[in-house]
Amino acid sequence: MSRTVYVNGAYLPEEEATVSIFDRGFLMADAVYEVTSVLDGKLIDFAGHAARLARSLGELEMAAPVTDADLLTIHRELVARNEVVDGMVYLQITRGNPGDRDFAYPAASVPGTVVLFTQAKPGLADNPQAKVGMKVVTVEDQRWGRRDIKTVQLLFPSMAKMMAKAAHVDDAWLVTEGMVNEGTSNNAYIVKGGRIITRHLGHEILHGITRAAVLRFAREAQMEVEERAFSVEEAKGADEAFITSASAFVMPVVEVDGVALGSGKPGPVAARLREIYLEEVRKTAI
Ligand code: PMP
Repeated sequence: MSRTVYVNGAYLPEEEATVSIFDRGFLMADAVYEVTSVLDGKLIDFAGHAARLARSLGELEMAAPVTDADLLTIHRELVARNEVVDGMVYLQITRGNPGDRDFAYPAASVPGTVVLFTQAKPGLADNPQAKVGMKVVTVEDQRWGRRDIKTVQLLFPSMAKMMAKAAHVDDAWLVTEGMVNEGTSNNAYIVKGGRIITRHLGHEILHGITRAAVLRFAREAQMEVEERAFSVEEAKGADEAFITSASAFVMPVVEVDGVALGSGKPGPVAARLREIYLEEVRKTAI
């Protein structure tokens, strides 16, 4: 079935939606994005995603072509028009089409390009992987130095995902000097002696919206949280591990570089956090 998508003010059938070949998102990866989950037809943590979008735009000196209120309306309209029950809304804002290719940013009068589309994922919250867990391999992180800005420069994460596939595992953890930064499209955590350990914020990782919520819920549940870098060796000796992202929520990791963690089965901390997360975010879904 053809989706209805949104491009620069218009709701269109996906076959009719177009963006210029001179768009800086296409030529320069000069664009930022957000992915917001939908559960039971409602948006999960929309405010968090809108706030990070504003930050990404600000860091790149890109004007917001739409207000947060308009963005919420467009998200809801697409969910309704496409009858999405469970799934995601993808949003991308580029620096627009200056009419030619040039490294310098165009004048501020060139409007940004705004694209949104939905992806239906029936049963998103009941992903069977949560019962068996994921396997990961570690690879050297070769991304640029501002991973805190959510740009569409996703070539290295795509390459790392292919390395994971070639190794017959589910994902790759990206590593710098033996320390784990994050997954290809998620934040990474280990659990040791009941303590939840995840890399501190900085330019090296994306500031996950799910990460912020999960750490808040963990602290509220009196769990101990340590925000610091952890090594690949430490991960291999962990009791359990997991990842978080807007579309995977909390997903257990049961193997790192061929080494089974703990019992080799999803751990209790990941299972509990997944349960708490889903319960809490459903309460504030809009
Ligand atoms: N790190 C990276 C590199 C990501 O691409 C993502 C998901 N886009 C995340 C972390 C998780 O962020 P969020 O919880 O906001 O989806």
